[in-house]
Amino acid sequence: EVAQAHLDRIEAVDQRVHAFLHVDREGAIAAAERVDRGEVTGPLAGVPVAVKDVIATRGVPTTAASKILEGWRPPYDATIVERLRAAGTVMLGKTNMDEFAMGSSTEYSAYGPTNNPWDLGRIPGGSGGGSAAAIAAYEAPLAIGTDTGGSIRQPGAVTGTVGAKPTYGGTSRYGLIAFSSSLDTPGPCARSVEDAALLHAAIAGHDVRDSTSIPQAVPDVVAAARLGAGGDLTGVKLGLVKEFAGDGSEPGVAASFRDSLEALVKLGAEVVEVSCPHFQYALPAYYLIAPSECTSNLARFDGVRYGLRVGDDGNRSLEEVMSLTRDAGFGPEVKRRIILGTYALSSGYYDAYYGQAQKVRTLITRDFQRAFDQADVLVSPTTPFVAFPFGSRTSDPYQMYLADLFTIPTNLYGGPAISVPSGLSEGLPVGFQIMAPTMADDRMYRVAAALE
Ligand code: GLN
Repeated sequence: EVAQAHLDRIEAVDQRVHAFLHVDREGAIAAAERVDRGEVTGPLAGVPVAVKDVIATRGVPTTAASKILEGWRPPYDATIVERLRAAGTVMLGKTNMDEFAMGSSTEYSAYGPTNNPWDLGRIPGGSGGGSAAAIAAYEAPLAIGTDTGGSIRQPGAVTGTVGAKPTYGGTSRYGLIAFSSSLDTPGPCARSVEDAALLHAAIAGHDVRDSTSIPQAVPDVVAAARLGAGGDLTGVKLGLVKEFAGDGSEPGVAASFRDSLEALVKLGAEVVEVSCPHFQYALPAYYLIAPSECTSNLARFDGVRYGLRVGDDGNRSLEEVMSLTRDAGFGPEVKRRIILGTYALSSGYYDAYYGQAQKVRTLITRDFQRAFDQADVLVSPTTPFVAFPFGSRTSDPYQMYLADLFTIPTNLYGGPAISVPSGLSEGLPVGFQIMAPTMADDRMYRVAAALE
């Protein structure tokens, strides 16, 4: 009944929202029946979940919202999908996103954008706008996203939902279609902090198939989320990043942030100012590191191994076929990143760009470590602006990149961060971000739950 109710809801609203690229009705019903018969038990038995289309699902179409992967059905499940099945969840289908997770609005999906359920003329954030919109529109109670520079948290913020980026290496990347391997982190999207923690716990933990997976026990995020529900934050120090102050947040976003901060202080938390002088270089460093890694990761889409192949008429060389396939198969933002990354890695430029960006990354990590000597968590708005109208930021890539101003430093460092709803500005949701030290995911859930 639960699975069917959500499939009905998708049927009723998804033509308008377009959160899903593929709905797996038969698979969902079959999984729900296995739970009904008692063949599958687990902490989330029978709970429906939607999965971002950048994650491999055996036999179920997986495109990363790109034409180049149209029709591809992976022969295997990602580790996190295996764990979702073992926990008893019922997978409803695959959610829309910016192509290969590059973007902040889902406008770069090759299959058309997702509409924000709060205002169908506005973006739902990105790249995981489909997962966040599915939650916000009650098409699914839980969804999986991936966060490379903010793609779980920023969509959470602009759709009034909860989105958490776990510690890098805390959730397995095996079976994720790689964008930027040193940053990509799968994590939960939900309507409450406790739900997010339950999903987080179900997918987290060491995986031998991911060489950067952390071989340590995951902190008890569910207990932490439940601890926070009572609200007592006596002794908890919230670090306010000085350099984020004059950052150009919309006035409504800044006001909502201050209100939430006050609410946390009323619960006993203390505010301390911290300085992170290198955060101002996070965006430029990210836009060298992420495109450089994507250039290498996307080399595999050559028209030979997967999906689309163009111009293979027997008269063309292999190189021509590859070139025609990649030209037809990749969208404009993906091409921009490949060109940027190829340039940054070119001989003679490597040290000036990629090498320099890696040094900046180290400095940002040190900023975080010093800040966490003074504060238990750092707090900021999740994104400087509320959901914007379609088309308003696509003509200038830099305007789009600004959406991740507050989320990207955490990815470069590797720690966990969560976005929780923090009221409205002009009728649209605003997100409050809580960042914690690596492997202190439980700490951010405790503060997040208190704010809820
Ligand atoms: N918006 C950022 C980008 O375009 C982050 C994307 C992500 O987290 N996948 O790269």
